[in-house]
Amino acid sequence: MSQRQAKRVAIVTGASRGIGAAIARRLAREGFAVAINYASSAKEADALVEELRASGGAAIAVKADVANADDVRHLFDTVEAELGKVDALINNAGVLKTAPLADTSDALYDQTFGINVRGTFNTLREAASRMKAGGRIVNFSSTTLALNMPGYAIYNATKAAVEAFTHVFAKELRGRNITVNAVAPGPVATSLFLDGKTDEQIASFSKMPPLERLGQPDDIASVVAFLVGADGAWVNGQVLRANGGLA
Ligand code: NAP
Repeated sequence: MSQRQAKRVAIVTGASRGIGAAIARRLAREGFAVAINYASSAKEADALVEELRASGGAAIAVKADVANADDVRHLFDTVEAELGKVDALINNAGVLKTAPLADTSDALYDQTFGINVRGTFNTLREAASRMKAGGRIVNFSSTTLALNMPGYAIYNATKAAVEAFTHVFAKELRGRNITVNAVAPGPVATSLFLDGKTDEQIASFSKMPPLERLGQPDDIASVVAFLVGADGAWVNGQVLRANGGLA
């Protein structure tokens, strides 16, 4: 059933859990109709759609591997047909697996660049011709880019590419009143960060920022809400580090 109504429309990639799910909840509260994109977690995405609809929001779940250009075209087609033209694009989908550069497999390199870089590129390219004037785009970098920790070579390289897209694309959209920014979170308590780490490692990351805790998905959703809301209108082409003062 079509959810089309007079609401601003947001696509949140990778919204089945973690930061993306928190962004979807927050944007629904702000009055957006939200497209919850996912690649494989259909059950979680459908449950979030039900939750948002139950509290009066408009939401749909759309399966699309952001690394696949055809999937991304289909994502935009579906959202336009079901919700209307896109006002906000949140490029949140991303993966992280750490390994020393010398031990990184071709498969890990391809997967990380495929999702983090090509995925962002695919949605930006669609947005270039399909987003409404006055729209907002938020890409996802990471504070790890500023920390240069061993093991993060491939991941940081992908986030450097995302920051490069952000700066250039903000200028390429001159005349359309569309802002393009990136958020670069520090450690946030999601499966991307927590999986595979010992309690000691997690405690040590928690102590790193002067605010002495891990970020929560809602901390990052608040920053995204600012960037896509009225108060963020004059922020463009920037990378906003949200990390409790870590770097
Ligand atoms: P997460 O909990 O692992 O969630 C990742 C989301 O991305 C899931 O919904 C997953 O859905 C989706 N996804 C993965 N591959 C996809 C693909 N090919 N196409 C579409 N969706 C895909 O991660 P998170 O911590 O929320 O991270 C969100 C973003 O924040 C990422 O860009 C990450 O790099 C960035 N970030 C996170 C942290 C942190 O500490 N957590 C710090 C800095 C930056 P499926 O299961 O359906 O694939």
